[in-house]
Amino acid sequence: MARRSRTKTPIAEQKPAIRKSNFDEVCLGYTIEEGQAEAIRCLQCKNAPCIASCPVMIDIPGFIVAIKEGNMEAAAAVLGKYTNLPAICGRVCPQEKQCEKVCKLGMAKNFEPVAIGKLERLVADWALENQDFTKLIQSDQPKIGKIAVIGSGPSGLTVAGDLAKLNYEVIIYEALHESGGVLTYGIPEFRLPKRIVKKEIESIEALGVTIETNVVVGKTITMEEIINEFDACYISVGAGAPNFMGIPGTALNGVYSSSEYLTRINLMHSYDFPNYDTPIKRSKNVVVIGGGNVAMDAARSAKRLGAEKVSIVYRRSLEELPARIEEYHHSVEEEIEYYWLTNPIEYINNGNGDLNGVKCIEMELGEPDESGRRRPVPIKNSEFIIEADTVIEAIGQGSNKVLLSTFPELKLTKWGYIEADPKTGATSIPGIFAGGDIVTGAATVILAMGAGKVAAVEIDNYVREKKKTPVTTKV
Ligand code: FAD
Ligand code: SF4
Repeated sequence: MARRSRTKTPIAEQKPAIRKSNFDEVCLGYTIEEGQAEAIRCLQCKNAPCIASCPVMIDIPGFIVAIKEGNMEAAAAVLGKYTNLPAICGRVCPQEKQCEKVCKLGMAKNFEPVAIGKLERLVADWALENQDFTKLIQSDQPKIGKIAVIGSGPSGLTVAGDLAKLNYEVIIYEALHESGGVLTYGIPEFRLPKRIVKKEIESIEALGVTIETNVVVGKTITMEEIINEFDACYISVGAGAPNFMGIPGTALNGVYSSSEYLTRINLMHSYDFPNYDTPIKRSKNVVVIGGGNVAMDAARSAKRLGAEKVSIVYRRSLEELPARIEEYHHSVEEEIEYYWLTNPIEYINNGNGDLNGVKCIEMELGEPDESGRRRPVPIKNSEFIIEADTVIEAIGQGSNKVLLSTFPELKLTKWGYIEADPKTGATSIPGIFAGGDIVTGAATVILAMGAGKVAAVEIDNYVREKKKTPVTTKV
């Protein structure tokens, strides 16, 4: 038997000098042989801790052993039991904070954990390439009920796929002209190619799920119409409304929210203007405010659009950086610069309404705040200016009020998210379930999917129960 390597099997990536000027995927993925070499490293633990730390409880040793045996079909079948979006999760899940963090191999001195995410991606990509999802057999039994899903992000797609498998008629209503939520309009092509997102969405449609795009629930159709037509409904409208610093100069030309900047690039293909209609500013000096995945994506996109200098301004230090560590390393390789312990206090006007600098102040870390992280405190008289013609604020998103404002009956949290039981997805209104970022606030793809899985089981219970006892109102 081959010796167990201490380190992960290396994976091919586009070279930084080349990739920083294109939008093609950075990571090129394992070959099957490389995947097998990595699969051999797995200890096949009993009570595998990696399973328990995965929000959708994938049988990780189960699919890894199938890779080791060269049986990709079996590996894909294991994954398919737990997730409808494995090629997406294999690319964007924060494995280093979940399954790989607790991997027993990684606990051994001088050993890296098994590259679980990269193996998931290998299997999922193999399945998308080699299996015909359009041939999935749909049940010819009468449908149990009819469910509306609002929003086609990972949470909505997951609940829809699981309910279709349970033999429900499912319609997803999506406000935008393309489905996928943040997977489509937020995460850039170089991390998550849109052809992968499209293929996995097609595999969910092949289960019988209908997706109606360009339907803004609360405007195009009302919640009342949905309640009258469907047996139950799942709200997964995400947290897509951008937060702003609110500092002087926010209205200057050249100040973007990350939502606008990334949507122009990903959804509207502005990097290919004028072949596509949406323009985007071609900048020289870009400053991105924030330290999460969104900030990394905005900075790395700006670089690819040709900016000479791109800097990230973050008010804490590298230790507290919320972005995936892999994305941070990639950004450094692509010559993104960092101003740690720094906060913007004003955007400077060039006199014509255009941005020409960001006035910042240095920070130091004080006592821990409610999140447990040390609170950044400004250092007096430490102001300085970074030259910039573009600034992109990536400081978090909140709930979008379009639907919520038309449905005041639904109970919200004090932060404006939907109040829902995390164990069931049930809201304050019977028959209305909710999950994903609109319940938790901006979180992760896999947590949004986990909420969808939990809700699918609960919606099934609810509808079966309701159908036993005839009721006068529909939801
Ligand atoms: P969303 O993905 O936001 O989808 C909600 C959908 O609902 C949208 O398509 C929206 O158009 C639609 N909608 C809204 N209102 C209505 C309405 N009234 N009617 C009809 N449709 C409506 N997570 C990770 O795990 N890893 C990452 O690397 C990562 N990177 C990220 C990068 C960026 C730039 C962003 C913004 C987020 C990132 N995240 C990442 C977070 C992750 O994408 C989200 O947590 C996840 O997408 C939430 O899923 P969701 O289904 O709840 O909502
Ligand atoms: Fe394999 Fe690590 Fe999971 Fe153990 S914890 S089964 S070594 S992936």
